[in-house]
Order: sequence, then C-alpha cells, then structure tokens
Amino acid sequence: YFSFIPAIVVIFVAALFIGYSLVINKFREESQVEANLREDVEKGTISDIFMNIDSIKYFGKEYRIKGRYHKLSKKTRDGWIKTWDYFRLLDAGHAFVLALGMFFIVYFPVMSFLNGEMTLGTLVFIEGTYVLFIGPLFGFVYGIRGFYQSMADMESIFYYSKLENDVKDSTHAKDLKIRRGEIEFRNVSFKYKRKWIFKNFNLKIPADKKFALVGPSGSGKSTLLKLLYRLYDIQKGEILIDGKNIKDFKQESLRSELSIVPQECVLFDDTIYNNIRFSRPGADRKEVFKAIKFAQLDKIIKNFEKKEKTIVGERGVKLSGGEKQRVSIARALLANKHVLVLDEATSALDSETEHEIQKDLEHLMKGRTSIIIAHRLSTIMKADSIVVLDKGKIVQQAKHGQLIRKPGLYKRLWNLQKGGYLK
Ligand code: ADP
Repeated sequence: YFSFIPAIVVIFVAALFIGYSLVINKFREESQVEANLREDVEKGTISDIFMNIDSIKYFGKEYRIKGRYHKLSKKTRDGWIKTWDYFRLLDAGHAFVLALGMFFIVYFPVMSFLNGEMTLGTLVFIEGTYVLFIGPLFGFVYGIRGFYQSMADMESIFYYSKLENDVKDSTHAKDLKIRRGEIEFRNVSFKYKRKWIFKNFNLKIPADKKFALVGPSGSGKSTLLKLLYRLYDIQKGEILIDGKNIKDFKQESLRSELSIVPQECVLFDDTIYNNIRFSRPGADRKEVFKAIKFAQLDKIIKNFEKKEKTIVGERGVKLSGGEKQRVSIARALLANKHVLVLDEATSALDSETEHEIQKDLEHLMKGRTSIIIAHRLSTIMKADSIVVLDKGKIVQQAKHGQLIRKPGLYKRLWNLQKGGYLK
C-alpha cells in the first residue's frame, strides 16, 4: 500500500523461508527415520546382550561384545549428528533469508526516505511490520518441523500397526469349551514357507489318555504342538478337538483351553503367588495354595523369607530349574483344563529332581488328555500310547513294552539311551 518494493521483499522472504524449511525438513525426516532405526537396533542389541550375559562371561567374550556394541552406538551417534546437522542448516538458512530480507527492506525504504519520497512514519511502520512478521513466520515453520518430526518418530509404529496376523479368526468364530478332550489330526498337510513338514498326516488322540510323541530332533514334534495351538494355519486337512474344527473358534479361547508345562518355564518378575495365579486370574487364595501344595512348592517356599510373596526376578532367575518347573506345574493345575501338554517338561532337570517332578506330573495327568513330548524315553514308559515320528511321518505307534520288543526306531533310540538321555 505504501511502497511496492518492500511488499515484494516481504512476499519473497516468506516464500523462501517456508520453501527452504519444507525442503530441509523432508531431508531431515529421512535422516531421523534412519537414526531412529539405528537406535532401535542398538537397544535391541543391549537387551540381547543382557539376556546372554552368562554366555558372554563363560566364553570370555566381553571385549568382542564391547567392540560390537561400540560399532553400533557409533552408527547411532553418526545418524543423530546428521539429523542435528539438518537443524543447524535450517537455522542458518533461516537467518540468511531474514538478513537478506532485512537488507532490502532497510535499504529501499531508507533511500526513499532520504530522497524525500517517504515520511518517517511510513519508514518506521514498514520496519516495525517486518519485525512483527518474523515471529509468526517462525511459528509456522516450527509447526511444520514438529509435524515432520512426529511423522518420523511414528513411522515404525505405523509399520507395526499395518502388520497383520497370518492366522485370523473367522467372522463367526465362537468360544471353545473342551468337554472330553479328544484330539484328531485329519489329513493334515503343513509347510513352513516352502518346506513341507507334514503331508496327509493322521493322528487320533483319545480323551483322557496319556499320549507321548517321540522322535529325533526335527521330526516335527514341536510343529505338531504349534498346529494344535493354531500358531500356524495348515494348508490342508483339519485339526479337530471333540470333533470340532479348531479353525471355527477364537484363537484365544482355543489356547486358553489347553494347559501347558513348557520345557523351560519363563516367569514374570513378580511374586511366586502372582506367577501361579497368572493361569487363572479369577482363582481365589485357597485354590492357588492348593496348586502350590500339589506341585510340592510349599516345602520349598517355606524356607523363603517372604514365602509365596517372594519375587522371582527377571525371567525367574532367582529360582532353580526344578523350582521354576514346579511353578509351571502349579500353573497348569490351577488352569485345570481337559487337555494338558508337557513339552519336554523335565528335560532341563537333574535325574533326582526329574524323578520327583515326574510323580507330580503323573498326578496332574490323571483324568486329562495328555500329550507328552519327551527326549528321555524313561519318562514316558507309562504312556497309554507312544507315537514315534520321523521326518513328519508316524513310523511306529504302540505301548512302551511292545515297542522295545520290535526292531525299529523306538528300540534304536531306547538302546542308545539305555533309559537315560538321548546321545
Ligand atoms: P522337533 O520338535 O521334533 O525337534 P520341529 O517341529 O521343531 O522338530 O521341526 C521340524 C522341522 O521344521 C525341522 O526341520 C525344522 O528345521 C523346521 N522348522 C521348525 N520351525 C520352523 C520355522 N519357524 N520356520 C521354518 N522351518 C521350521
């Protein structure tokens, strides 16, 4: 309104200021995503290192790990420095654009004033307006900067939210209630990516029986359990519980109807009591104590200062293998399900503890369908039926007494172990 050139200068400064911010922020966003990624890798490695601290010490690899960590943290540092460099570049560019604008906005109006073409009032008004204009301009580009920064920080979260579970509940999925506990694998074919593990596999596990799965490593025992838990969908066939296809039920309800004593029991960093109650959060004190007694944990915890309120430490590090396994057994009893899975439940224990725990397990298995995966064949001698798997196929099925009399894989394994551990 007062003068043409200052107006052009202001528009030009605003356009340059914002345009420059957009370009630099775009580059900075990419660099920040990269820095975030490197930091994630670094943090993941730290947690991995602490999980494996025993192995690192036993193998005397502290220096090596330190070196590896040093390289990773240097990469993260370089990533962040690059990001911060963009900030400095942004600040420097802003200052330059504003100074350039300032030069023109002072030079031309002052010349007009000196030539008597402009009043002092107009000159002061133009300079004052320019200075007032700078504040909102910064506000605007800081807004943009915040937006890009948030987008970069949220990128990995957006990525995870887009990931979908391969195993999906059907739209009409219901809650499963196992009444008898009869399990059947009918014509099951399954592959991991490209590798077929089972082809037309058939197996019937009658209700309330003790059923053992044995076979060399890699024969498919764990995979069979994973399929029963529907951690993977099968390519062909059906898995039935009490005659009902597990695909028709909600995954969570299927899994909560099965009770497992895993090979290694990993516990929450909480009290023994809460760790046991985890399997049935609605259980009352009496029921939890019944489970504690059943697993013979009462004799152990009475020596602990805080009894059942003892905190077990991260992953249960403050308990021995046998003690943790007893917590597992107590959990399984409290869950009180019709189907019980023992996944090499005693293989991490010494023979004496194993013998003790075996007795508890025999109790636990009464009146339930039990699927036992065992390396130590001595632990499954009393099973109602033993299925011998090899490369995803059933090669033998009978009771222990019959199997050791016939030549075959079971007899070979038994002779190798001579009642002990598979060599
Ligand atoms: P077992 O429990 O009898 O030792 P598994 O069921 O663990 O045997 O493994 C059966 C086969 O499946 C093996 O050859 C193993 O390499 C393969 N396998 C197991 N898990 C995976 C997986 N997540 N991805 C690809 N192959 C796997």
